[in-house]
Amino acid sequence: MKRDPLGKFFLLALIVAVAGLAAVTRAPDAKWVERAAKAAVIGPWIERLADLYRRPAAAAEAPDIGGGAEVIYRIDSRRNELRPTVAVAAGSVPPLGSEPALPLPIPSRPPDPEVLAAARELLAAAKDSQTLGPYTLYTDVRDRGLLIYLSAVAAQLESVYVSRYGLEPLPGAREAVVLFESEASYQQFLAGAPELIQQSAPGLLRSGVVATYSEGRGWSEVAATLIHELTHLVNKRALGPALPPWLDEGLADDLAQSRIEGLRIFPGTLGGSAVRSGSRTEYKGGQAAVIELGRAASAGDLPAIQTLLALDWESFQSVDRRSQRYGQSSFLVRSLLDSPDPGLATAFRGFLRDVSEGQEITGEALLNRLGCSWEALDSQLASFVRRQAVKADLPI
Ligand SMILES: [Zn+2]
Repeated sequence: MKRDPLGKFFLLALIVAVAGLAAVTRAPDAKWVERAAKAAVIGPWIERLADLYRRPAAAAEAPDIGGGAEVIYRIDSRRNELRPTVAVAAGSVPPLGSEPALPLPIPSRPPDPEVLAAARELLAAAKDSQTLGPYTLYTDVRDRGLLIYLSAVAAQLESVYVSRYGLEPLPGAREAVVLFESEASYQQFLAGAPELIQQSAPGLLRSGVVATYSEGRGWSEVAATLIHELTHLVNKRALGPALPPWLDEGLADDLAQSRIEGLRIFPGTLGGSAVRSGSRTEYKGGQAAVIELGRAASAGDLPAIQTLLALDWESFQSVDRRSQRYGQSSFLVRSLLDSPDPGLATAFRGFLRDVSEGQEITGEALLNRLGCSWEALDSQLASFVRRQAVKADLPI
């Protein structure tokens, strides 16, 4: 029998269509599905099919965790005084009350339309969307260099996360980032978030919208805030939405306090800055955290890790010693991942895997994985911080 070319063409088209549909059901959140869903005629059908196969989104309604720790120390070398001049972090209502019930990773959520509209209203100009790595960006910042820099940072964050923590987040990033040029506009947006206890953080995450501002801040400072907030988003997709504060904030600051060189994030390195003017030096970011922790540890004034791990959101965010709790959390993570003993990193990644699989997240569970005592954990953190201070020549 002679085959006619038209028949062959239809057979081929049928095979391609079936393979395409099968691929949509396997990866409904893939980038190409998103693009195909915008196509004329077949787009709506692809979207409908993808929707059927997406993981249930109900859990994505969990309230967001505000965040963003920023601590600045000014040290007067004549008087050797340590003075926190800014120690702020956005607090929030406990993300899921006191009984977290959603331990598994959840898919990314699109921004709440009302919250996003409120933020976009406050932008001065250029309200069309752009991209910032895998996220949608709305901004009135005109500095192209800064936008390219932040975009490169946002684009690589997920692969940095995967290699540092050994976890593969659920695919797809659907949240939006709003980057204000003006601090006043950002503050105005912040003022509209009644659930936040503290309204002085440089960045916030609210209902699928990450917001921050650039005015008066260095590029790496803005990038650190962005990394902090975006890590919270990735945490939800990799670990779950109901994390204890030490873990959620610890991972966010572990990455946010890294150095960025060129356009690359180097996890495990100590970011932040030290700016000298006369006898005064102003420390920011990771360097400020090392000084604060190192001094507390030397004075025997650093609370036990066991206590830190048991804190609920409200206590963790309470004003007194808040920046110290952020620092202790992130340097606990660092001290485990970057310890000279590689067994600790393996054990910590094992703990993270347990969390992502829905196991109970308790201090004891971490300790069991690490196979050490609380006292040993406290002293390995203290000596890690001391080594960091010596390496970076910081006055602790
Ligand atoms: Zn945070």
